[in-house]
Amino acid sequence: MSAARLPGAPGGGRVTARAASAEWVPGQRLVADLRGEPGADVEVAPDPDAPSIGVLALQGDVLEHLRALRRSGARTVRVRSLEDLAAVDALVLPGGESTTIGKLLDRFGLLRPVRARIDDGLPVFGTCAGMILLSDELDQAEPQPLVGGIAVRTRRNAFGRQVDSFDTRLPVVGIDGGPVDVSFIRAPRVEAVLDADAVEVLAEVEGYPVVVRQGRLLATAFHPEVTGDGRLHALFVGMVRDSGG
Ligand code: GLN
Repeated sequence: MSAARLPGAPGGGRVTARAASAEWVPGQRLVADLRGEPGADVEVAPDPDAPSIGVLALQGDVLEHLRALRRSGARTVRVRSLEDLAAVDALVLPGGESTTIGKLLDRFGLLRPVRARIDDGLPVFGTCAGMILLSDELDQAEPQPLVGGIAVRTRRNAFGRQVDSFDTRLPVVGIDGGPVDVSFIRAPRVEAVLDADAVEVLAEVEGYPVVVRQGRLLATAFHPEVTGDGRLHALFVGMVRDSGG
């Protein structure tokens, strides 16, 4: 996978947990940088036609996604049941522990219905564990429940353990205004794109895809919701609006 066609220098300016401090908090440096900027913390009142975007709320990083989506003008709802799922125009699969979220999806009877809605065109944004869940294949021997939908093979914990987590500014294809502030927390990465015609690689770190899109499915290896930089959520809300949701 060549990084040559991507803007900027992927992965530049890493701040690792170890290097920064023992008390590193994901996104803290970047949030601090944004604080005080006009609009950094403003929620947009959703118009009545705003799409209703669900955040899967079985386990993981739910609240920050709800806020980031509302700041981009979406209406939001927590999804825990089939009824919740049926009512949304789009879905976010948050970060957390992909094994746990996958098992809970199965136990709550949501795994097949989420897949069925994706087949019907549901836009889905997966972040970190959510990217793992949206992958068609994992680079590991042990099976775990996956939603699938993006033709990639993904490796969990590809950047190391919790102490190897880092914040960075990442150029993302299609996002204007400079690199995006993001946090990699025990993050996965895409090891192989299985269908190069279907999958767009929007960003890479060290030559590996970390933002991919296939049709209405968007996935990031990192957490875009903890830094206060809402541009990836805005991109997704735009995808949802374009899909008619
Ligand atoms: N390492 C986790 C997993 O394998 C993902 C971490 C995250 O979502 N921050 O599921």
